[in-house]
Amino acid sequence: AGPVLEVRDLQAHFRSHYFGVNREVRAVDGVTFAVNRNEIYGLAGESSSGKTTLVKTIAGLLKPPLEMVGGSARFSFLPGWDAIGRAPPDVVRAIRWRHLSYIMQGSMNVLNPLRRVRHSFRDFAWRHLGGSKAEFDARAEAHLERVKLDPSVLAAYPHELSGGMRQRVTIALATICKPDFIIADEPTTALDVVVQKDVLAMIRAIQCEMGSSVLFITHDMGVHAALTDRLGIMYAGRLVEDGETPEIFSRPLHPYTRHLIASLPRIGDTQQRDGLEGSPPNLAAPPPGCRFHPRCPLAMPICATTVPAMIESLPGHRVACHAVNEGAAA
Ligand code: SF4
Repeated sequence: AGPVLEVRDLQAHFRSHYFGVNREVRAVDGVTFAVNRNEIYGLAGESSSGKTTLVKTIAGLLKPPLEMVGGSARFSFLPGWDAIGRAPPDVVRAIRWRHLSYIMQGSMNVLNPLRRVRHSFRDFAWRHLGGSKAEFDARAEAHLERVKLDPSVLAAYPHELSGGMRQRVTIALATICKPDFIIADEPTTALDVVVQKDVLAMIRAIQCEMGSSVLFITHDMGVHAALTDRLGIMYAGRLVEDGETPEIFSRPLHPYTRHLIASLPRIGDTQQRDGLEGSPPNLAAPPPGCRFHPRCPLAMPICATTVPAMIESLPGHRVACHAVNEGAAA
């Protein structure tokens, strides 16, 4: 059936022009990956790694000064367009919520604080699902029950609900039309651990039931281990490794992935773990070659001059690293 989302060499840059000076920040620089039907693909990496810019580009939600400057991000349900951002507004309106929904951190961005939850549901989903108002409301109630929410939340204003409850309502809203593809950007970051577990279980249950694909973004490797089927690691605007999640955790190949996994806290561990020297690069003037080379314990001369290609080093497991791929070739 092929992938639902195919991203090829995607590039998105911030472009600004102040006082006669052009500035370009290469926030996403040549990312290639695919998400299959009925899977949860995770994107990990520290906060400045470009994850959110990448998914906003994929979802067609870029605003100046951020621009998609190259590559493609094709969805199987949007044939004929190589990116949502390049399709006309009426085409985009027709697929939002119905085929593609976006759950972000901070549910208040979606729920209108001045209107009861019921009206947010009607505003977003009624036109896609059709039927009378009473039929739609009954459908909304049934969907809320299915995701273990009391239908009485429809009568509430967002501020009357707790943060965890609001995030669950947002997820219910994002899934009521049974979209083919759900983008979830740090949806649980602001929640406490117990509520977080609940929300993750809810995302997994909905995804299984509907057979949707999910692109799930978080810097939290523990969440990736618990939830995702495949995992991509981003560093400084590039994808440096991807593969099946258990494989990435049991056999991380890229030195940055190894660092992320090694820094996960373990039960009974009282020792401070080794941090990585240095900080992520300034993307207005990124280091040449491998962007990780100033911090990499395995760096070799070639790393400072040549961008490592993303190569399938093991079946279904790709990595962009000269040391790994030279070792594999040897
Ligand atoms: Fe380190 Fe070189 Fe691999 Fe980059 S390409 S991760 S600098 S060994």
